[in-house]
Amino acid sequence: MTIAIEPVTDPHALAAALSGRMLIDGALVPAVSGRTYAVINPATGQTIATAPFGEAADVEAAVASAAAAQKAWAKLPARRRGALVAECGRLLAGRVEELGRLVALETGKALRTESRGEASVLADVFTFFGGLGSELKGETIPFDPAMLTVTLREPIGVIGAIIPWNAPMMLMAMKIAPALVAGNAVVVKAAEEAPLAVLRVAQVMNTVLPKGVFNLITGFGPECGAPLVAAPAVRKITFTGSVETGRAVYRAAADKLIPVTLELGGKSPMIVMADADLDRAVAGAVAGMRFTRQGQSCTASSRIFVHDSIHDAFVDRLAAAVDRMVMGDPLDERTDIGAIVSKSQHERVCGYIEAGRAAGAGVRACSALPDDPALAGGLFVRPHVFTGLGNDSRLAREEIFGPVCCVIRFRDYEEAIAAANDSDYGLAATLWTRDLKTALDAAHRLEAGFVQVNQNLVVQPSLSYGGIKQSGLGKEASLEAMLEHFTHKKTVILNMT
Ligand code: ADP
Ligand code: MG
Repeated sequence: MTIAIEPVTDPHALAAALSGRMLIDGALVPAVSGRTYAVINPATGQTIATAPFGEAADVEAAVASAAAAQKAWAKLPARRRGALVAECGRLLAGRVEELGRLVALETGKALRTESRGEASVLADVFTFFGGLGSELKGETIPFDPAMLTVTLREPIGVIGAIIPWNAPMMLMAMKIAPALVAGNAVVVKAAEEAPLAVLRVAQVMNTVLPKGVFNLITGFGPECGAPLVAAPAVRKITFTGSVETGRAVYRAAADKLIPVTLELGGKSPMIVMADADLDRAVAGAVAGMRFTRQGQSCTASSRIFVHDSIHDAFVDRLAAAVDRMVMGDPLDERTDIGAIVSKSQHERVCGYIEAGRAAGAGVRACSALPDDPALAGGLFVRPHVFTGLGNDSRLAREEIFGPVCCVIRFRDYEEAIAAANDSDYGLAATLWTRDLKTALDAAHRLEAGFVQVNQNLVVQPSLSYGGIKQSGLGKEASLEAMLEHFTHKKTVILNMT
Protein backbone atom coordinates (compact mmCIF):
# COMPACT_ATOMS: atom_id res chain seq x y z
CA MET A 1 0.00 0.00 0.00
CA THR A 2 1.26 3.46 -0.79
CA ILE A 3 0.55 6.62 1.17
CA ALA A 4 1.19 9.91 -0.62
CA ILE A 5 4.46 11.51 0.42
CA GLU A 6 3.57 15.10 -0.56
CA PRO A 7 3.46 17.35 2.52
CA VAL A 8 0.02 17.43 4.14
CA THR A 9 -0.60 20.29 6.53
CA ASP A 10 -4.03 19.12 7.73
CA PRO A 11 -2.96 16.79 10.53
CA HIS A 12 -6.35 15.07 10.74
CA ALA A 13 -6.11 14.06 7.08
CA LEU A 14 -2.54 12.90 7.54
CA ALA A 15 -3.40 10.89 10.67
CA ALA A 16 -6.21 9.18 8.78
CA ALA A 17 -3.91 8.43 5.83
CA LEU A 18 -1.24 6.89 8.07
CA SER A 19 -3.80 4.79 9.96
CA GLY A 20 -3.06 1.15 10.61
CA ARG A 21 0.50 1.11 9.21
CA MET A 22 4.06 0.70 10.36
CA LEU A 23 7.30 0.49 8.37
CA ILE A 24 8.85 -2.94 7.93
CA ASP A 25 11.37 -3.81 5.22
CA GLY A 26 10.70 -0.62 3.33
CA ALA A 27 6.92 -1.09 3.17
CA LEU A 28 4.02 0.45 5.08
CA VAL A 29 2.27 -2.60 6.47
CA PRO A 30 -0.38 -3.60 9.03
CA ALA A 31 0.35 -6.03 11.87
CA VAL A 32 0.55 -9.70 10.86
CA SER A 33 -2.48 -10.30 13.10
CA GLY A 34 -4.37 -7.38 11.56
CA ARG A 35 -5.00 -6.03 15.08
CA THR A 36 -4.96 -2.28 15.67
CA TYR A 37 -5.54 0.12 18.55
CA ALA A 38 -6.94 3.65 18.64
CA VAL A 39 -4.73 6.74 18.58
CA ILE A 40 -6.41 9.51 20.60
CA ASN A 41 -6.15 13.29 20.39
CA PRO A 42 -5.73 14.11 24.11
CA ALA A 43 -7.06 17.65 23.63
CA THR A 44 -10.49 16.35 22.60
CA GLY A 45 -10.60 12.66 23.49
CA GLN A 46 -11.40 11.84 19.86
CA THR A 47 -9.88 8.95 17.92
CA ILE A 48 -7.76 10.33 15.08
CA ALA A 49 -6.30 7.12 13.67
CA THR A 50 -5.47 3.54 14.45
CA ALA A 51 -2.02 2.01 14.74
CA PRO A 52 -0.97 -1.61 14.27
CA PHE A 53 -0.93 -3.63 17.48
CA GLY A 54 2.55 -5.07 16.87
CA GLU A 55 3.48 -8.37 18.46
CA ALA A 56 6.25 -10.98 18.29
CA ALA A 57 5.61 -11.88 14.63
CA ASP A 58 5.96 -8.23 13.59
CA VAL A 59 9.09 -7.81 15.69
CA GLU A 60 10.54 -10.89 14.04
CA ALA A 61 9.87 -9.54 10.55
CA ALA A 62 11.36 -6.13 11.36
CA VAL A 63 14.47 -7.61 12.99
CA ALA A 64 15.00 -10.03 10.08
CA SER A 65 14.77 -7.14 7.64
CA ALA A 66 17.26 -5.08 9.65
CA ALA A 67 19.69 -7.99 9.96
CA ALA A 68 19.57 -8.62 6.21
CA ALA A 69 20.09 -4.94 5.35
CA GLN A 70 22.82 -4.21 7.87
CA LYS A 71 25.67 -6.06 6.16
CA ALA A 72 25.53 -4.05 2.95
CA TRP A 73 24.86 -0.83 4.86
CA ALA A 74 27.99 -1.33 6.99
CA LYS A 75 30.05 -1.82 3.82
CA LEU A 76 29.21 1.63 2.50
CA PRO A 77 31.86 4.25 3.19
CA ALA A 78 31.01 5.98 6.47
CA ARG A 79 30.79 9.38 4.81
CA ARG A 80 28.31 7.99 2.32
CA ARG A 81 26.10 6.74 5.14
CA GLY A 82 26.43 10.13 6.78
CA ALA A 83 25.46 11.87 3.56
CA LEU A 84 22.28 9.77 3.34
CA VAL A 85 21.39 10.54 6.96
CA ALA A 86 22.05 14.25 6.31
CA GLU A 87 19.78 14.02 3.25
CA CYS A 88 17.01 12.71 5.55
CA GLY A 89 17.66 15.82 7.66
CA ARG A 90 17.31 18.06 4.60
CA LEU A 91 13.98 16.49 3.62
CA LEU A 92 12.67 16.60 7.19
CA ALA A 93 13.64 20.28 7.50
CA GLY A 94 11.20 20.93 4.65
CA ARG A 95 8.41 19.30 6.64
CA VAL A 96 8.58 21.13 9.95
CA GLU A 97 5.01 22.36 9.58
CA GLU A 98 3.58 18.99 8.61
CA LEU A 99 5.41 17.08 11.33
CA GLY A 100 4.84 19.74 13.99
CA ARG A 101 1.10 19.66 13.38
CA LEU A 102 0.90 15.90 13.42
CA VAL A 103 2.85 15.53 16.66
CA ALA A 104 0.72 18.29 18.24
CA LEU A 105 -2.43 16.40 17.28
CA GLU A 106 -1.37 13.06 18.72
CA THR A 107 0.48 14.23 21.85
CA GLY A 108 -1.38 17.40 22.86
CA LYS A 109 1.79 19.53 22.81
CA ALA A 110 1.13 23.06 21.62
CA LEU A 111 2.28 23.74 18.06
CA ARG A 112 3.74 27.21 18.60
CA THR A 113 5.59 26.61 21.86
CA GLU A 114 6.63 22.95 21.49
CA SER A 115 5.69 20.83 18.51
CA ARG A 116 7.07 23.00 15.72
CA GLY A 117 10.31 23.31 17.68
CA GLU A 118 10.54 19.56 18.09
CA ALA A 119 10.19 19.11 14.33
CA SER A 120 13.05 21.56 13.68
CA VAL A 121 15.34 19.89 16.21
CA LEU A 122 14.55 16.55 14.60
CA ALA A 123 15.97 17.74 11.29
CA ASP A 124 18.96 19.32 13.01
CA VAL A 125 19.86 16.05 14.76
CA PHE A 126 20.00 14.25 11.39
CA THR A 127 22.11 17.04 9.93
CA PHE A 128 24.50 17.04 12.89
CA PHE A 129 25.14 13.28 12.93
CA GLY A 130 25.14 13.11 9.14
CA GLY A 131 28.33 15.17 9.20
CA LEU A 132 30.15 12.81 11.55
CA GLY A 133 30.74 9.79 9.29
CA SER A 134 34.47 10.38 8.97
CA GLU A 135 34.82 10.69 12.74
CA LEU A 136 34.29 6.93 13.10
CA LYS A 137 38.05 6.58 13.15
CA GLY A 138 40.36 4.45 15.25
CA GLU A 139 43.86 4.81 16.65
CA THR A 140 47.35 3.60 15.88
CA ILE A 141 49.13 2.18 18.89
CA PRO A 142 52.93 2.02 19.32
CA PHE A 143 52.78 -1.58 20.51
CA ASP A 144 55.76 -3.04 18.67
CA PRO A 145 57.82 -1.39 15.91
CA ALA A 146 57.57 -4.53 13.78
CA MET A 147 53.79 -4.59 13.95
CA LEU A 148 51.09 -2.22 12.85
CA THR A 149 48.56 -2.04 15.64
CA VAL A 150 45.32 -0.18 15.07
CA THR A 151 41.80 0.04 16.41
CA LEU A 152 38.72 0.07 14.24
CA ARG A 153 35.29 1.37 15.17
CA GLU A 154 32.83 -1.25 13.97
CA PRO A 155 29.04 -1.22 14.05
CA ILE A 156 27.28 -3.38 16.62
CA GLY A 157 24.74 -4.81 14.14
CA VAL A 158 20.99 -4.55 14.73
CA ILE A 159 19.96 -1.99 17.32
CA GLY A 160 16.58 -1.99 19.08
CA ALA A 161 15.42 1.53 19.97
CA ILE A 162 12.49 2.01 22.36
CA ILE A 163 11.14 5.52 22.62
CA PRO A 164 8.60 7.49 24.67
CA TRP A 165 5.84 9.88 23.64
CA ASN A 166 6.90 13.22 25.13
CA ALA A 167 9.22 14.28 22.28
CA PRO A 168 8.88 11.21 20.07
CA MET A 169 10.50 12.50 16.87
CA MET A 170 13.43 14.22 18.56
CA LEU A 171 14.16 11.35 20.92
CA MET A 172 13.95 8.88 18.05
CA ALA A 173 16.40 10.99 16.03
CA MET A 174 18.89 11.06 18.93
CA LYS A 175 19.06 7.27 18.66
CA ILE A 176 18.68 6.42 15.00
CA ALA A 177 20.82 9.11 13.40
CA PRO A 178 24.05 8.12 15.21
CA ALA A 179 23.20 4.40 15.04
CA LEU A 180 22.76 4.55 11.27
CA VAL A 181 25.81 6.70 10.57
CA ALA A 182 27.86 4.19 12.58
CA GLY A 183 26.75 1.40 10.22
CA ASN A 184 24.03 -0.27 12.28
CA ALA A 185 20.50 -1.12 11.21
CA VAL A 186 17.70 -0.11 13.55
CA VAL A 187 14.28 -1.30 14.65
CA VAL A 188 12.39 1.41 16.52
CA LYS A 189 9.45 0.61 18.79
CA ALA A 190 7.27 3.73 18.92
CA ALA A 191 5.47 4.74 22.10
CA GLU A 192 1.88 3.53 21.99
CA GLU A 193 0.57 7.08 22.57
CA ALA A 194 2.54 8.68 19.70
CA PRO A 195 2.96 6.38 16.69
CA LEU A 196 2.00 8.76 13.87
CA ALA A 197 4.59 11.54 13.55
CA VAL A 198 7.43 9.04 13.88
CA LEU A 199 5.81 6.96 11.15
CA ARG A 200 5.72 9.97 8.86
CA VAL A 201 9.42 10.55 9.61
CA ALA A 202 10.06 6.89 8.81
CA GLN A 203 8.22 7.21 5.52
CA VAL A 204 10.37 10.19 4.54
CA MET A 205 13.57 8.38 5.55
CA ASN A 206 12.44 5.42 3.47
CA THR A 207 12.69 7.54 0.33
CA VAL A 208 16.42 7.98 0.99
CA LEU A 209 17.75 4.93 2.87
CA PRO A 210 18.05 1.31 1.63
CA LYS A 211 15.05 -0.74 2.72
CA GLY A 212 15.47 -2.53 6.02
CA VAL A 213 18.19 -0.39 7.57
CA PHE A 214 15.42 1.42 9.37
CA ASN A 215 12.16 -0.18 10.55
CA LEU A 216 9.47 1.29 12.76
CA ILE A 217 7.02 -0.90 14.66
CA THR A 218 4.10 0.16 16.82
CA GLY A 219 2.48 -1.51 19.79
CA PHE A 220 2.58 -1.83 23.55
CA GLY A 221 5.43 -2.59 25.93
CA PRO A 222 4.78 -6.21 26.92
CA GLU A 223 3.60 -7.41 23.49
CA CYS A 224 5.94 -5.42 21.23
CA GLY A 225 8.76 -3.82 23.27
CA ALA A 226 9.69 -6.93 25.26
CA PRO A 227 10.01 -9.20 22.18
CA LEU A 228 12.24 -6.57 20.56
CA VAL A 229 14.60 -6.63 23.54
CA ALA A 230 14.54 -10.44 23.53
CA ALA A 231 15.05 -10.91 19.76
CA PRO A 232 18.31 -12.86 19.30
CA ALA A 233 19.58 -10.71 16.42
CA VAL A 234 19.17 -7.48 18.39
CA ARG A 235 22.65 -6.77 19.79
CA LYS A 236 22.00 -3.54 21.68
CA ILE A 237 19.05 -1.67 23.17
CA THR A 238 18.78 2.06 23.46
CA PHE A 239 15.83 3.10 25.60
CA THR A 240 14.24 6.33 26.78
CA GLY A 241 11.39 6.12 29.27
CA SER A 242 10.50 5.53 32.89
CA VAL A 243 12.84 4.12 35.53
CA GLU A 244 10.60 1.14 36.15
CA THR A 245 10.48 0.09 32.48
CA GLY A 246 14.17 0.90 32.12
CA ARG A 247 14.96 -1.61 34.84
CA ALA A 248 12.85 -4.28 33.12
CA VAL A 249 14.65 -3.61 29.84
CA TYR A 250 18.04 -3.76 31.55
CA ARG A 251 17.15 -7.10 33.19
CA ALA A 252 16.03 -8.58 29.87
CA ALA A 253 19.18 -7.28 28.17
CA ALA A 254 21.30 -8.86 30.93
CA ASP A 255 19.91 -12.28 30.01
CA LYS A 256 21.34 -11.79 26.51
CA LEU A 257 24.46 -9.99 27.75
CA ILE A 258 23.87 -7.10 25.39
CA PRO A 259 24.69 -3.47 26.14
CA VAL A 260 22.05 -0.85 26.88
CA THR A 261 21.78 2.90 26.87
CA LEU A 262 19.09 4.09 29.29
CA GLU A 263 17.73 7.63 29.43
CA LEU A 264 15.36 7.55 32.39
CA GLY A 265 13.60 9.94 34.72
CA GLY A 266 14.65 12.99 36.62
CA LYS A 267 13.80 15.30 39.48
CA SER A 268 16.14 18.07 38.49
CA PRO A 269 17.01 20.76 41.02
CA MET A 270 17.23 24.45 40.29
CA ILE A 271 19.01 26.53 42.94
CA VAL A 272 18.30 30.26 43.01
CA MET A 273 20.83 32.17 45.13
CA ALA A 274 20.01 35.46 46.86
CA ASP A 275 22.12 37.42 44.33
CA ALA A 276 20.46 35.88 41.25
CA ASP A 277 18.89 38.03 38.53
CA LEU A 278 15.30 37.38 39.57
CA ASP A 279 13.70 38.01 36.17
CA ARG A 280 16.08 35.62 34.45
CA ALA A 281 15.64 33.02 37.16
CA VAL A 282 11.85 33.17 36.91
CA ALA A 283 12.01 32.86 33.12
CA GLY A 284 14.45 29.99 33.63
CA ALA A 285 12.03 28.23 35.96
CA VAL A 286 9.17 28.58 33.47
CA ALA A 287 11.36 27.21 30.67
CA GLY A 288 13.05 24.64 32.90
CA MET A 289 9.79 23.23 34.20
CA ARG A 290 8.65 22.82 30.56
CA PHE A 291 5.24 24.25 31.44
CA THR A 292 4.70 24.59 27.67
CA ARG A 293 5.03 20.80 27.50
CA GLN A 294 2.69 20.32 30.44
CA GLY A 295 5.82 19.50 32.47
CA GLN A 296 6.22 16.23 30.55
CA SER A 297 10.00 16.26 30.37
CA CYS A 298 12.57 14.10 32.13
CA THR A 299 14.76 17.20 32.48
CA ALA A 300 12.03 19.31 34.12
CA SER A 301 13.37 21.54 36.93
CA SER A 302 10.71 20.30 39.30
CA ARG A 303 12.55 21.05 42.56
CA ILE A 304 13.21 24.76 42.79
CA PHE A 305 15.32 25.77 45.79
CA VAL A 306 15.06 29.50 46.42
CA HIS A 307 16.94 31.57 48.98
CA ASP A 308 14.82 32.69 51.90
CA SER A 309 15.40 36.40 51.14
CA ILE A 310 13.80 36.20 47.68
CA HIS A 311 11.55 33.17 48.11
CA ASP A 312 8.21 34.98 48.33
CA ALA A 313 8.99 37.39 45.50
CA PHE A 314 10.14 34.48 43.35
CA VAL A 315 6.95 32.50 43.97
CA ASP A 316 4.76 35.52 43.18
CA ARG A 317 6.56 36.21 39.94
CA LEU A 318 6.67 32.56 38.90
CA ALA A 319 2.96 32.09 39.55
CA ALA A 320 2.17 35.34 37.69
CA ALA A 321 4.29 34.28 34.69
CA VAL A 322 2.64 30.86 34.47
CA ASP A 323 -0.76 32.45 34.98
CA ARG A 324 -0.25 34.53 31.83
CA MET A 325 0.19 31.38 29.76
CA VAL A 326 -2.75 30.37 27.61
CA MET A 327 -4.03 26.82 27.82
CA GLY A 328 -5.98 25.59 24.85
CA ASP A 329 -6.13 23.71 21.56
CA PRO A 330 -2.59 22.56 20.76
CA LEU A 331 -3.08 23.49 17.10
CA ASP A 332 -4.14 27.06 17.91
CA GLU A 333 -1.25 29.53 17.46
CA ARG A 334 -2.34 31.42 20.60
CA THR A 335 -1.90 28.37 22.82
CA ASP A 336 1.08 28.13 25.17
CA ILE A 337 0.03 25.01 27.10
CA GLY A 338 -1.71 21.98 25.61
CA ALA A 339 -3.09 18.73 27.01
CA ILE A 340 -1.63 15.83 29.01
CA VAL A 341 -0.90 12.91 26.70
CA SER A 342 -3.15 10.16 28.07
CA LYS A 343 -5.85 9.36 30.59
CA SER A 344 -3.47 7.33 32.75
CA GLN A 345 -0.90 10.16 32.86
CA HIS A 346 -3.69 12.63 33.60
CA GLU A 347 -4.84 10.53 36.55
CA ARG A 348 -1.29 10.18 37.82
CA VAL A 349 -0.64 13.93 37.70
CA CYS A 350 -3.97 14.76 39.35
CA GLY A 351 -3.15 12.23 42.08
CA TYR A 352 0.07 14.09 42.91
CA ILE A 353 -1.78 17.41 43.01
CA GLU A 354 -4.30 15.95 45.45
CA ALA A 355 -1.49 14.50 47.57
CA GLY A 356 0.22 17.89 47.69
CA ARG A 357 -2.98 19.61 48.75
CA ALA A 358 -3.67 16.91 51.34
CA ALA A 359 -0.19 17.46 52.78
CA GLY A 360 -1.32 21.01 53.55
CA ALA A 361 1.15 22.66 51.24
CA GLY A 362 0.76 26.17 49.89
CA VAL A 363 -0.31 26.04 46.28
CA ARG A 364 -0.87 28.34 43.30
CA ALA A 365 -2.97 26.86 40.53
CA CYS A 366 -2.15 28.87 37.41
CA SER A 367 -3.61 29.48 33.94
CA ALA A 368 -7.29 28.98 33.35
CA LEU A 369 -8.61 25.75 31.84
CA PRO A 370 -9.82 26.19 28.26
CA ASP A 371 -13.51 27.08 27.95
CA ASP A 372 -13.88 25.98 24.31
CA PRO A 373 -16.67 23.32 24.32
CA ALA A 374 -14.74 21.38 21.63
CA LEU A 375 -12.06 20.75 24.27
CA ALA A 376 -14.48 19.62 26.98
CA GLY A 377 -13.23 16.03 26.70
CA GLY A 378 -9.57 17.11 26.76
CA LEU A 379 -6.97 16.11 29.33
CA PHE A 380 -6.04 19.56 30.61
CA VAL A 381 -4.38 20.20 33.96
CA ARG A 382 -3.69 23.61 35.46
CA PRO A 383 0.00 24.12 36.29
CA HIS A 384 0.56 23.94 40.06
CA VAL A 385 3.32 25.63 42.01
CA PHE A 386 3.61 24.13 45.50
CA THR A 387 5.33 25.86 48.41
CA GLY A 388 6.03 24.80 51.96
CA LEU A 389 6.87 21.19 51.11
CA GLY A 390 10.24 19.80 52.15
CA ASN A 391 12.69 17.97 49.92
CA ASP A 392 11.60 14.80 51.73
CA SER A 393 7.97 15.12 50.60
CA ARG A 394 6.56 12.75 48.00
CA LEU A 395 6.12 15.56 45.49
CA ALA A 396 9.80 16.42 45.76
CA ARG A 397 11.06 12.84 45.58
CA GLU A 398 9.00 11.26 42.83
CA GLU A 399 8.95 12.16 39.17
CA ILE A 400 5.49 13.55 38.39
CA PHE A 401 5.86 14.16 34.65
CA GLY A 402 3.24 16.88 34.78
CA PRO A 403 2.98 20.67 35.27
CA VAL A 404 3.71 20.50 38.98
CA CYS A 405 6.75 21.92 40.76
CA CYS A 406 7.83 22.43 44.35
CA VAL A 407 9.48 25.68 45.40
CA ILE A 408 11.57 24.93 48.49
CA ARG A 409 13.01 27.62 50.76
CA PHE A 410 16.68 27.45 51.84
CA ARG A 411 18.86 29.62 54.06
CA ASP A 412 22.40 28.70 53.22
CA TYR A 413 24.26 27.42 50.21
CA GLU A 414 25.50 24.19 51.81
CA GLU A 415 21.94 23.31 52.76
CA ALA A 416 20.80 23.88 49.16
CA ILE A 417 23.57 21.75 47.62
CA ALA A 418 22.89 18.93 50.08
CA ALA A 419 19.15 18.99 49.39
CA ALA A 420 19.67 19.21 45.61
CA ASN A 421 21.86 16.11 45.74
CA ASP A 422 19.49 14.29 48.08
CA SER A 423 17.55 12.61 45.29
CA ASP A 424 17.43 9.21 43.63
CA TYR A 425 17.86 11.00 40.31
CA GLY A 426 20.77 12.82 38.68
CA LEU A 427 19.81 14.03 35.23
CA ALA A 428 20.21 17.82 35.19
CA ALA A 429 20.70 20.74 37.57
CA THR A 430 20.84 24.51 37.29
CA LEU A 431 22.23 27.25 39.51
CA TRP A 432 21.31 30.93 39.38
CA THR A 433 23.85 33.39 40.79
CA ARG A 434 26.04 36.34 39.84
CA ASP A 435 28.97 34.95 41.82
CA LEU A 436 31.51 33.04 39.72
CA LYS A 437 33.08 31.26 42.66
CA THR A 438 29.73 29.82 43.76
CA ALA A 439 28.92 28.89 40.18
CA LEU A 440 32.12 26.89 39.76
CA ASP A 441 31.81 25.25 43.15
CA ALA A 442 28.24 24.14 42.43
CA ALA A 443 29.18 22.89 38.96
CA HIS A 444 31.65 20.55 40.61
CA ARG A 445 29.39 19.42 43.41
CA LEU A 446 25.96 19.01 41.83
CA GLU A 447 25.31 15.32 41.16
CA ALA A 448 23.88 15.43 37.64
CA GLY A 449 24.84 14.69 34.05
CA PHE A 450 24.13 18.23 32.84
CA VAL A 451 24.74 21.34 34.95
CA GLN A 452 23.94 24.84 33.70
CA VAL A 453 24.50 28.19 35.36
CA ASN A 454 22.08 31.04 34.64
CA GLN A 455 20.32 29.21 31.85
CA ASN A 456 18.11 26.20 31.32
CA LEU A 457 18.56 24.82 27.83
CA VAL A 458 17.19 21.52 26.64
CA VAL A 459 19.37 18.79 25.15
CA GLN A 460 21.56 20.14 22.32
CA PRO A 461 23.09 18.15 19.45
CA SER A 462 26.90 18.05 20.06
CA LEU A 463 26.64 18.14 23.89
CA SER A 464 26.67 14.79 25.69
CA TYR A 465 23.41 14.31 27.52
CA GLY A 466 22.48 11.64 30.06
CA GLY A 467 22.02 11.05 33.74
CA ILE A 468 23.67 9.42 36.71
CA LYS A 469 22.08 7.53 39.62
CA GLN A 470 18.53 6.38 38.73
CA SER A 471 18.44 8.72 35.73
CA GLY A 472 20.17 6.23 33.51
CA LEU A 473 23.25 4.83 31.87
CA GLY A 474 25.22 6.42 29.07
CA LYS A 475 25.06 9.58 27.01
CA GLU A 476 23.33 10.72 23.86
CA ALA A 477 23.49 13.62 21.41
CA SER A 478 27.25 13.89 20.87
CA LEU A 479 30.07 12.44 18.78
CA GLU A 480 31.33 10.56 21.84
CA ALA A 481 27.85 9.13 22.36
CA MET A 482 27.85 7.77 18.80
CA LEU A 483 31.26 6.18 19.28
CA GLU A 484 30.63 4.76 22.74
CA HIS A 485 27.08 3.58 22.27
CA PHE A 486 26.79 2.50 18.65
CA THR A 487 30.18 1.00 17.83
CA HIS A 488 32.61 -1.42 19.37
CA LYS A 489 36.33 -1.04 19.20
CA LYS A 490 38.22 -3.84 17.46
CA THR A 491 41.96 -4.10 17.98
CA VAL A 492 43.95 -5.33 14.98
CA ILE A 493 47.65 -6.28 14.92
CA LEU A 494 49.48 -6.85 11.64
CA ASN A 495 52.71 -8.69 12.39
CA MET A 496 55.17 -7.92 9.61
CA THR A 497 58.12 -9.91 10.90
P1 ADP B 1 5.21 5.44 30.30
O1 ADP B 1 5.25 5.70 31.74
O2 ADP B 1 4.95 6.62 29.47
O3 ADP B 1 4.37 4.25 29.93
P2 ADP B 1 7.40 3.68 29.75
O4 ADP B 1 8.79 3.77 30.24
O5 ADP B 1 6.57 2.57 30.27
O6 ADP B 1 6.73 5.08 29.99
O7 ADP B 1 7.41 3.60 28.16
C1 ADP B 1 8.48 3.98 27.34
C2 ADP B 1 8.56 3.01 26.17
O8 ADP B 1 8.86 1.70 26.66
C3 ADP B 1 7.26 2.85 25.38
O9 ADP B 1 7.57 2.72 24.01
C4 ADP B 1 6.69 1.56 25.94
O10 ADP B 1 5.82 0.91 25.07
C5 ADP B 1 7.95 0.75 26.15
N1 ADP B 1 7.81 -0.36 27.07
C6 ADP B 1 6.97 -0.49 28.12
N2 ADP B 1 7.15 -1.66 28.76
C7 ADP B 1 8.14 -2.32 28.11
C8 ADP B 1 8.80 -3.57 28.28
N3 ADP B 1 8.48 -4.39 29.26
N4 ADP B 1 9.80 -3.91 27.42
C9 ADP B 1 10.15 -3.06 26.44
N5 ADP B 1 9.56 -1.88 26.22
C10 ADP B 1 8.57 -1.49 27.03
MG1 MG C 1 4.48 2.24 30.52
